[in-house]
Amino acid sequence: MRKQELYHKIIAYFEEAMPIAETELHYKDPFQLLIAVILSAQCTDKRINMITPALFQDYPTPEAMANTTPEVIYEYIRSVSYPNNKAKHLVGMAKMLIKDFNGEVPSTLEELVKLPGVGRKTANVIQSVVFNKAAMAVDTHVFRVSHRIGLVPESCTTPFATEKELTKYIPDEIVPKTHHWLILHGRYTCIARNPKCDECGLKEWCKHYRSLTRK
Ligand code: SF4
Repeated sequence: MRKQELYHKIIAYFEEAMPIAETELHYKDPFQLLIAVILSAQCTDKRINMITPALFQDYPTPEAMANTTPEVIYEYIRSVSYPNNKAKHLVGMAKMLIKDFNGEVPSTLEELVKLPGVGRKTANVIQSVVFNKAAMAVDTHVFRVSHRIGLVPESCTTPFATEKELTKYIPDEIVPKTHHWLILHGRYTCIARNPKCDECGLKEWCKHYRSLTRK
């Protein structure tokens, strides 16, 4: 099957099976989403959603967060991974928003990656979820699922190469949604250990499944 045809099949499947696909992080505005995404590195969305309500209530704006200290923020986020670094990043990020971006979350990759705690993946999540741009954030689920299905070749060994390959074939307007499709599929069906192939609607086209059934 040609690559473009495979992409069509997979997108058509998800359109049908998962018409609504959104981030599972809870947030009310771009600033809150940015906090939640920074916190979610190496941590589950479920854990982040447990601790953010108190944090958002007490530090609802960049101004409020910029005026506190990492030590104070640490107490709110101590149950997530790498709380020391993340607390420093959140306060540093809020200070930079005030100083350089008029208190607003910026919309470009170049600006976003200047913020403490924000790498390419986080910047792409913000660009796609907040600004609906064709930016594909490649996390562990997107990387694993796209390789297993065969959307990207094995030679794409980095998140960046995977991002470039995926965005070559996925129409711009559905890149944000495809990001969530691949994450949710990876979280609930195509899980890292023991993917649930028997109940997966993609097995007909999946490279990994083909390799299993050939044995
Ligand atoms: S068939 Fe199995 S490996 Fe392929 S996408 Fe589905 S769950 Fe993942």
